[in-house]
Amino acid sequence: MPYYRPNSTFKVKPNYHGLRRSRARMKAHSNSERAKLIRELDRVFSLFIRERDGQRCVQCQSSEELTCGHIYSRRNHSTRWDEENCHAQCWNHNASHSINPHPYVNWFVEKFGYEALEKLHQRFLSIVRFSNEDLREMISGYRLRLRKKAA
Ligand SMILES: [Zn+2]
Repeated sequence: MPYYRPNSTFKVKPNYHGLRRSRARMKAHSNSERAKLIRELDRVFSLFIRERDGQRCVQCQSSEELTCGHIYSRRNHSTRWDEENCHAQCWNHNASHSINPHPYVNWFVEKFGYEALEKLHQRFLSIVRFSNEDLREMISGYRLRLRKKAA
């Protein structure tokens, strides 16, 4: 266990005020038009990806508790709705990816090649700002493609 030497002259006080403020901001954001668009795009995009992949986990072929698994985290909008970055994954495989990304990344490289991973990584690092109008267009695009698949 690390030993921290007590230092009576320097104290860091937790900033509870900042914490409260940021929670309030987060709450305000979660109700915003933009947050709703992002949630809806996540939903229709996930349905599309699972349908595209035949309702089976790409790693174990399970059809139980399917999710849309991201090779590179969905934190970056640049690859959050990138069809190459996303594949159908069972809940277990998706959850274990954050702890050990190797199996899913390895699956990707075997299927698409290392160059595709490099290109995907470049897109992940790039900064893309989608306007609310862009998000609306993507939502209707995926709704349409889902309907075509179902027909
Ligand atoms: Zn699986």
